[in-house]
Amino acid sequence: IKRIALLTSGGDAPGMNAAIRAIVRTGIYNNLEVVGIKNGFSGLLKKDFVEMKSNSVSKIISRGGTILKSARCKEFKLKETREKAFANLREMGIDALIVNGGDGSFRGADLLSKEFGFPVIGIPCTIDNDIYGTDFTIGFDTAINTVIEAVDKIRDTAESHNIIFFVEVMGRDSGFIALYTSIASGAEATLLPEVKTDIKQICSYMEQERRANKTSGIIIVAEGDKEGGATEIARKVKEQLPEYETRVTILGHIQRGGNPSCKDRVLASILGHGAVTALLEGKQGVMVGMAHNRTVYTPLEETYLKHDQIDHNWIEVSKIISL
Ligand code: ADP
Repeated sequence: IKRIALLTSGGDAPGMNAAIRAIVRTGIYNNLEVVGIKNGFSGLLKKDFVEMKSNSVSKIISRGGTILKSARCKEFKLKETREKAFANLREMGIDALIVNGGDGSFRGADLLSKEFGFPVIGIPCTIDNDIYGTDFTIGFDTAINTVIEAVDKIRDTAESHNIIFFVEVMGRDSGFIALYTSIASGAEATLLPEVKTDIKQICSYMEQERRANKTSGIIIVAEGDKEGGATEIARKVKEQLPEYETRVTILGHIQRGGNPSCKDRVLASILGHGAVTALLEGKQGVMVGMAHNRTVYTPLEETYLKHDQIDHNWIEVSKIISL
């Protein structure tokens, strides 16, 4: 291979820029030409390409978001769209593609690889940490640090005013952000999509806390909790316990932004480098991940068909140590 392309797709994640930088510099080090594709798969269709040089990626390691921009591209689910994408890659003389994104992006990447035998490598970038084949995804560490910083601040008001705060964090299908931040901030309860939420149980827990003279608290709610988000849960609790002072804070998109943490920069740098070396070694149709501090490769299809599960013991630990 002589010429490789890269794109960022799906939800942005802090550390994507560090991955872009590592890919470009590793490519150049190995005498490859590197092409950046803007706006994910939709840029691939519109031939929105830029030649990447070493200085194209100067001073971006510390920046959140993605300099290549990201976009959703619904039509990529259609075969004729992917045929167009493949034709564009060929026309631009591109020999391989690196896709930085989440499981949705990997579905598209996998189809491109299987349908046309085109070399594609995935790099896991999502704050949700819900991708099989890597211990952590790029962006997760930064996001959880943003959350605990916010929760620490909310706790000051909770304690000063004897309020129970329901703090909603991201995680539509996965409770990793909620579980980690709950343990780290000493939250009184954690509600996750993976565990059935029992409103009665939360209420009796709150009453028990009050009897122990604990009148404030933080309850972390993953947005994908099956009983509803924080607003809905707070409403249901208030119905049962009208005398309790409750508030809702939805952290929202602050969780996706910000300068990547040291861990995310290192992970992104190692995986970016690992993606390019994988292509040089002839690997394709795989995602590069990190497991037990080693670079590992997993077939793209496994990354979205299998699922990393949260450790249910951790929920118990979280309860025990916040009593
Ligand atoms: P993420 O990669 O963060 O999970 P999305 O699920 O939005 O984000 O997916 C990003 C893009 O990947 C979509 O806009 C689409 O272009 C492509 N994609 C997602 N699912 C598929 C699929 N089943 N087949 C083909 N392409 C897909």
